[in-house]
Amino acid sequence: MIFIKTEEEVELIRQSNLLVSRTHAMLAGEIKEGVSTLFLDKLAEEFIRDNGGTPGFLHYNGFPNTLCVSVNDVVVHGIPSGYLLRNGDIVSVDCGAVLNGYNGDSCYTFEVGEVKPKIKALLQCTKECLYKGIEKAIVGNTTGDIGNAIQTHAESHGYSVVRELVGHGIGKQLHEEPEVPNYGRSGKGVKLRELMTIAIEPMINLGRKDIFQERDHWTIKTTDGKPSAHFEHTVAVRKDKAEILSDFSIIEEVLKKK
Ligand code: MG
Ligand code: MG
Repeated sequence: MIFIKTEEEVELIRQSNLLVSRTHAMLAGEIKEGVSTLFLDKLAEEFIRDNGGTPGFLHYNGFPNTLCVSVNDVVVHGIPSGYLLRNGDIVSVDCGAVLNGYNGDSCYTFEVGEVKPKIKALLQCTKECLYKGIEKAIVGNTTGDIGNAIQTHAESHGYSVVRELVGHGIGKQLHEEPEVPNYGRSGKGVKLRELMTIAIEPMINLGRKDIFQERDHWTIKTTDGKPSAHFEHTVAVRKDKAEILSDFSIIEEVLKKK
């Protein structure tokens, strides 16, 4: 069942996503060589609670933490740990928060110190893929239009698209219908209607698309060991232009000053 939101609900989902983005902006100032991913998780949990929210991922299907922190060849669902970030790492920080009963969900991939140009280019392209997908999130298009735009952009740069994990509807539940794959055929899939709220989240690999799950039942890695990037916005479907409810600009302001 696909829930079409009211304008009031969209506003509440925006507030939840702004809390997520503010959490990312806070973390942007803390991500550096030598910091453990578990420390980032603790900071995020404290920040979300201090601002009246609850972590959206903590205990979700048994997930043990507030953040999914996925370093280098970890695609998604990395469990925060004592791992100390190293110069040249990329670290995707996926964060969810619940405020007033509605979920926010957004992901940003950060650079630690000096990252190789080849990997910087992967991050740049993955972010572009996200916005290419968002451009298609308008009334009358389909989830296939979003996936096709993402896949076409990624593959034109020689990257590959993870198939097994997808974007999703979002609202009172973290994961609602419809699924929003990052690949597919234009015109296929679910028709988009005004006031649907969806999370679009390309996971793009430098090498091959194949992935596997670690024995912890969470951590997803690339099979070839090459890096993977992940960016995610929650958006509301509108007539001419999707409305982005999370906000990277406050994250990037902090990164610019670093
Ligand atoms: Mg997410
Ligand atoms: Mg998501």
